[in-house]
Amino acid sequence: MNCARCGACCTSFGVCITPSDIVRISLATSMRPSQFVDTVQDYPNREREEPALFIDKEKQILVLKRSKENVCFFYSDEGCKIYHYRPLLCRTYPFGEGMKSMCSRACPSEWAPEGSEREQYGHDIFLYEKELAEFQKFAKEWNSKGGGSLSKLLKALLSP
Ligand code: SF4
Ligand code: SF4
Repeated sequence: MNCARCGACCTSFGVCITPSDIVRISLATSMRPSQFVDTVQDYPNREREEPALFIDKEKQILVLKRSKENVCFFYSDEGCKIYHYRPLLCRTYPFGEGMKSMCSRACPSEWAPEGSEREQYGHDIFLYEKELAEFQKFAKEWNSKGGGSLSKLLKALLSP
């Protein structure tokens, strides 16, 4: 019943991020958001709930950049390079509200955290839901004003 540590979740698909993730990673690494934030075009029936944003007149989703090996920008053979401040999606993966296993294309294992690890997952899922709700509000406002460029968006996300 444990995560197989296979790394499929870090290497298979794009990783959605929230504005709060961007701020946390930027502060912890001293990297500018433009160094690690990327976008992909929105597409139907996706499994994540992060809102799409109008960027350069197209509906796009915020994700972590990928390396030239086409894996997460922060992935290394030793594991996650930003483990302590990795996005909440990574912290909670592959679970959702109520610790239910989410529909997930990347995770090949059936597993569930136990004991203190389960408590930590519960805490992170709660936080993730809260930050997603804030992100939804931000996206509604951003989109209602017609959106803009990625750099304008990153400035707006980071402004207090
Ligand atoms: S940020 Fe870390 S945990 Fe998340 S996908 Fe990238 S390497 Fe994996
Ligand atoms: S969460 Fe799933 S995909 Fe990710 S390392 Fe664990 S078993 Fe592999």
